[in-house]
Amino acid sequence: MVKIRKQEALDYHSEGKPGKIEVIPSKPYNSQRDLSLAYSPGVAEPCKEIHKDPETVFKYTAKANLVAVISNGTAVLGLGDIGPEASKPVMEGKGLLFKIFSDIDVFDIEVDTKNVDEFVKTVKNIAPTFGGINLEDIKAPEAFDIEQKLKEELDIPVMHDDQHGTAIISGAALLNALELAEKKIDEVKIVVNGAGASAISCAKLYQSMGAKPENILMLDSKGVIRSDRDDLSSHKRQFARDTKLETLEDAMKGADVFLGLSTGNIVSQAMVKSMADNPVVFALANPEPEIPYNKAMAARKDIIMATGRSDNPNQVNNVLGFPFIFRGALDVRAKAINEEMKLAAVHALAELAKETVPDEVNEAYNMRGLSFGRDYIIPKPLDFRLITSVAPAVAEAAIKSGVARTKIKDWEKYREDLRR
Ligand code: NAP
Ligand code: MG
Repeated sequence: MVKIRKQEALDYHSEGKPGKIEVIPSKPYNSQRDLSLAYSPGVAEPCKEIHKDPETVFKYTAKANLVAVISNGTAVLGLGDIGPEASKPVMEGKGLLFKIFSDIDVFDIEVDTKNVDEFVKTVKNIAPTFGGINLEDIKAPEAFDIEQKLKEELDIPVMHDDQHGTAIISGAALLNALELAEKKIDEVKIVVNGAGASAISCAKLYQSMGAKPENILMLDSKGVIRSDRDDLSSHKRQFARDTKLETLEDAMKGADVFLGLSTGNIVSQAMVKSMADNPVVFALANPEPEIPYNKAMAARKDIIMATGRSDNPNQVNNVLGFPFIFRGALDVRAKAINEEMKLAAVHALAELAKETVPDEVNEAYNMRGLSFGRDYIIPKPLDFRLITSVAPAVAEAAIKSGVARTKIKDWEKYREDLRR
C-alpha cells in the first residue's frame, strides 16, 4: 500500500480551500440578464412548471445528477464510531470519487443521530433534493433497518455502499474465480467469516447469484452461527444452520470458498491447506486481511486469492461499483436500485475482466500483459472502460425490471456520451 505521512494527509486537506469539494455553477452568470434568469424573476418559471408537474424537477434542477452521501459516523472506515463531524472527510472523499469516476455531483450530509427512526426521517425529509441516496459508514444492525425503511419510503435509488458495493464487487470476483476453479456456484461450500453489514449483504447476493443457503456457513466473533445459539440478531438468524461445527478451523475444512469480512490475521496456513482443491480465498478485512496475501499464496499453489489491498493482485475495491451503478440508475431516473440492477453490475464487472486489457490500463499500473487469470479476476479501478461496461448494464436492468422513469433510446450514443 502507498505509505502516507500524517502531516502530508493533514496538509492535503487543509491547504487552499479547506476540504475536498466545492460547488460550481453550471449556467452563465456574467450579465444582469443571466442573473435575472438564474434567480428572480426568471427562476419562478421552472418553479411553476415543477409545481404543476413534479416530475419536471428532473428537467429543471440538478436533482437528476445529484447524490447524497449520508452518514452518522458510526462505522467509519476502520475507525469505528467517531461521530458525524469526524466522518466528513470520508464523505467528502466519496464525493470526490463520484465526481471523477462518473461525473456525479455529491452533497455530503452528516447526521447527528444514532436513532434509526430519526435518521430515516431526516433522510426522507431531504430526499426531494436528490436523484439518489448513498448511505455510508453506518454501523450494523442499524444500517440494515435504515436502508430497508428508506427503500420502502423513497422513490429514488437508495444504496448502503458498505453492504452492496462490497457484495457486487466480490460477487464479480467470485464468478470469475469459480470459472477458473471449474466449479459451479450452486455446488460450492462457502464459509463467510464475519456477520456484519458487508458479510450479510455478500451472503445474500451470492444466494441471488445461485449459491445454496445450505452451503453457506457464517461465523461471527463467537464462532459458527448455529440454530442452537440464543444470542443471534434477526439478521444473523437468517444464516443459522443446524450443525455441530463450532470454530473457523472446523468450518474451513473442505470448503471451496472463504470470504473474510471480519478482522486481520485470524486464518492460518493450516486452515487454508484444509480447504478443497482450487480454493477461493477472499480475505477482505482492511487494512490487515484475515491472512496476508503472501502467507496464503505460500500455503498452496492452487489458491485463488483476493484482498481489499491495492498492493496485492485482485483488489476488491468499492470504487469499481458505486460510481457506475449510480450513473446507470440516474441516467434512467430509476426509482430504486434493485436486485436485478445489482446482478447486472456483477455480470458486467465479471465480463470486463475477461476482455483484452488496453495498454493505458497496463501503463496506469506499471504492468504488462495483464490478462484474465488467477492474478486478474476483477477489473482495475483505473480502467476507463468501467463506466461504459457497468452503467449501461445497470440502466438496462432498471428499464427491464420496471423501475426506470425514462428509457434510453440510442445505446450507442449513450455509451459515447459516457466515454466523455
Ligand atoms: P462490521 O459490521 O463491524 O462487522 C464485523 C463482523 O466481523 C462482525 O459480525 C463481527 O462479529 C465479526 N468478527 C470480528 N472479529 C471476528 C473474528 N475473530 N471471527 C469472526 N468474526 C469476527 O464491519 P463490516 O463493515 O462488515 O466490515 C468488516 C471488515 O471488512 C472490516 O475489516 C472492513 O474494513 C472490511 N471490509 C472490506 C471491504 C472491501 O471491499 N475490501 C468492504 C467492506 C468491509 P460480531 O457480530 O460477533 O461482533
Ligand atoms: Mg464505507
